[in-house]
Amino acid sequence: MAVRRRALLRIVVFILILASASLARSRRLLSAASTTARHMSAALATATSSCPPDEQSAGALCASHRSAAPCRIDSAKSALRDADIVCFDVDSTVLTYEAIDEFATYLDKSEGVAALTREAMEGGMKYEDALERRLQLMQPTRADVEGFINTHDIKLSSGIEQVVSLLQRRGTAVYLVSGGFRFLLEPLADALKIPRTNIYANELYFDTHGNYAGFDRSAPTSRDGGKAEAVAAIIQGNNTSAHNTANKGSGKGLNVVMVGDGATDLQARPPASVFIGYGGVSVRKAVKEGADWFVTDFTELIDVLRG
Ligand SMILES: [Mg+2]
Repeated sequence: MAVRRRALLRIVVFILILASASLARSRRLLSAASTTARHMSAALATATSSCPPDEQSAGALCASHRSAAPCRIDSAKSALRDADIVCFDVDSTVLTYEAIDEFATYLDKSEGVAALTREAMEGGMKYEDALERRLQLMQPTRADVEGFINTHDIKLSSGIEQVVSLLQRRGTAVYLVSGGFRFLLEPLADALKIPRTNIYANELYFDTHGNYAGFDRSAPTSRDGGKAEAVAAIIQGNNTSAHNTANKGSGKGLNVVMVGDGATDLQARPPASVFIGYGGVSVRKAVKEGADWFVTDFTELIDVLRG
């Protein structure tokens, strides 16, 4: 009887040891599974919290990284859809060329003007000084201006007419902000149905005989950093305008987008909320890297505005 009891006790002890080992193993498995889940969760959060730096600047798609924190390209597209104001650079953005170069060619002064432009870029000459020296060289008369406008065809970047039209139909105010000359921009504004009052550019002066007599030095676009100043003035004008219906009563700031190909355009953000770089004519590395969204074709903007 005692033998049977001891045997039974051994069996019970053996079963208890087996159960204890199994429980410990289950706990280890559960702990490992929990750690893996935490690591996966952290990795997923990292992968989806933002776009990789190259995608943020190079215009690549962000869809594979979409998350609650949208990347810069998604934000730029959203800003474009909801924009109160869109400001376009003109030379090599709205137009497929640099208008001052074309005007200089018309005056048969292209080599001298190009040399001054190169000198300005290489020597870090102030914009106002470069502008003055080029105008001194060109000495454009009123008759030159009229002759150029009457004989020169405007060459628009492909798709820009549709972009401007789509924006205007949405109630977005469209502006032209240029370091070029107002007289070159007025026919362009008319063609795009942009009010001439929405042009920020440089004004030439002529004397009573129609000879060149200088330029308006008070225009922000005649100075370094002038595009940022011009955009700030546009924002201020719209904030105080009785016609401003955007964000009425909401207390929110205006949603302003700047579009351009140059470093001076990039400088306009801020005050612009978003900068869209355009590389359809010239691709500049600093602009491509600094842009919230970089495009080489205006159909990309058309797709967003139609969507
Ligand atoms: Mg430009």
